[in-house]
This record gives sequence, structure tokens and C-alpha cells, in this order.
Amino acid sequence: MDQLSRSSWLQRQQELKLELDLVNSTSGLGAALMALAENQRATGFIRDNLENVERFILPSASGRRHYFSVQYNPARARRFAGAGLALAPENVENVNQGCFLCAENIWWQQQGTELGYDLPLAGSRYTAWMNPFPLAPGHCIAAAREHIPQCWGGSSETLATIISDLLELSSKLPGWICFYNGEGAGASILGHLHYHLLPRPADYGQLPLELAIQRHDADGVVEEIYPLSFMHWHDEQTVAMEAVSPWIKDWLARVGEPEHATANIITITAECGSRQDCFFIPRHKARSRAEGLAGVVGGFETLGEIVCSSDEDHKRLQAGEINYQTIADMLRQVSVAL
Ligand SMILES: [Zn+2]
Repeated sequence: MDQLSRSSWLQRQQELKLELDLVNSTSGLGAALMALAENQRATGFIRDNLENVERFILPSASGRRHYFSVQYNPARARRFAGAGLALAPENVENVNQGCFLCAENIWWQQQGTELGYDLPLAGSRYTAWMNPFPLAPGHCIAAAREHIPQCWGGSSETLATIISDLLELSSKLPGWICFYNGEGAGASILGHLHYHLLPRPADYGQLPLELAIQRHDADGVVEEIYPLSFMHWHDEQTVAMEAVSPWIKDWLARVGEPEHATANIITITAECGSRQDCFFIPRHKARSRAEGLAGVVGGFETLGEIVCSSDEDHKRLQAGEINYQTIADMLRQVSVAL
């Protein structure tokens, strides 16, 4: 592991970029990211093929179409154990306390197996890296190329940039679910800005939050139709920041304890590309998890699918001890008024 292996890594990155740019220009960004996933399975960086995942659908007693779901994903329990090397080799600089999303660390931490794709959009400010412990096949992270914080630090301009970049990434990914988790709202790496990009799995229909919107079918403040308070915008093709910015500015100005304010932001572009939805779910940093199941509530959970990885939760699910009401109560516990 030396400068020679670094230059060979950089060269492989460059070669892969040419390949993926070609896929992107002919078949779209989604296809390019799926090709990156393929490459990362081949290099051995993606070690989980999701074969142990089980999904539990928990229907509501009242409405036939209402449900919550739980994804039992045991490999996710390993994600905090730290994949890769913790100590930089001799004569190699460890930048930003070994940040897992800084390219300067990634090549030696993952011993050359992890390759990313510098995304040719959003001002070329992001690189896609595959998630080694995915929620679904193709699940990747779009990380800022610069080591900048995950949170907006009270600045409405920074928050607006976070949302507008997410909308732009999502607009090139029809059929994908893209989301941002703030501090205390599911983010595990706070030092480095990143988003989750997730192709909707083939056997998934609309997620509970999307169904709630369909029942309501209106823009604006939507309460009492879902256990979480949220704001929603939608548009044909792309949601315009002019529609989102005034509300965000106003929200930041009136939110109590702004230092504790955080959020999940989700953008979904329809498979046919004819519609984009944006959800803003305000959160409180001290309420990152809820009683009920062991995990933290992040963006995917706010959509209505709770991810868990412990044996104990699995046993309770198999025994039928977790139901629709358990999940509704969990989401209600982390809900913050708009
Ligand atoms: Zn970093």
C-alpha cells in the first residue's frame, strides 16, 4: 500500500469513469450507477447480496391499502464495526480523522477495492460510492467531493443548496428514491455531506408516505393523514426551488431551538419521469430513535419502512409482536410539529 497503489487506484477510477460516462450518456444515470454496483460486487467491496433480508408487511386493521413494512436486514448490524483499514499505511496521510467519505482515505481504507463515480451533474460536486451494506440492490451514497458538514448549521442558504442538489440528483434518477438524513435523523457520518440514492426494489409498490399523499392529493401542509408531520411539494418533471425556498426560510425563522432542528428530506422522481415529489420531515436532534424497534429513524423509515437488524427484533417480528400500530406509534414519537 504505497504511492504506486494509489496511482493505480486513480487510474482505475479514471478508466471506470470513462465507461460509466458512456453508460450515463446512452442509458441514463441509473444504469451508470447499476454498472458501478456491478463493478463493486466484482471487486469484492459489496459483500452483502441481501440474501438474508426478509420483509414484513404490516397491514392496517382499517384500510386495505394502508400498511407499514419492516425490513429485517441482519448485515446492517455490521456497518458500525468499521469496514476496511483503520490505520493509514506509512507515509500516507489520514485526512479528516479517517473520514470514510473522503476519497483521499477511501483508496487505502478499502485497499483499492472501492471505486466511485464522479457525478457529471450538480456542479460536479458529488461522487457516488456504493453502500457496502445496502437497503436494496444498487443503494449508493452521493458524497460531496469536498469534506463539508452534513448539517446546514442554521443557514437557510446552505439548507436550500442541500435541497436543490438533492432535487437535481433525483431528477436524473427516475424510479429511484433519494434522501438526506440530518444529524440525529439517521445520519451516521456528520462530518461529510452525503445523500442516499436507492433504486426502488422491483417488488416494492408505493411506500406508505406516498400512499398517504395519494389519499390526500394536495400540496402543502399535510397533517393527520400520517403519523409524522411533513411538508410536501410536487410538480410535473422537477420541483422548483422557488416553490420550496420561501417555506424553508420561514420554517427556519420560526423553529424553536434552531440548534436542535434537523430533518429528513426525500425526493422521488416517477419511473416515467413525469412527476417529482419532495418531502421535508422536520425532526429534533434529541429524538433520533423511538421505542418499538432497535434502529434509528432515518429517511427510509420516515417513508414507512423500518429497517432492523437485531436477532431480538427478528424474533418479535416472527412472533407477530410488531404490528401496524407499533410502527405508527414509533413514527409519532419522533414527529415534530411543522
Ligand atoms: Zn470526508
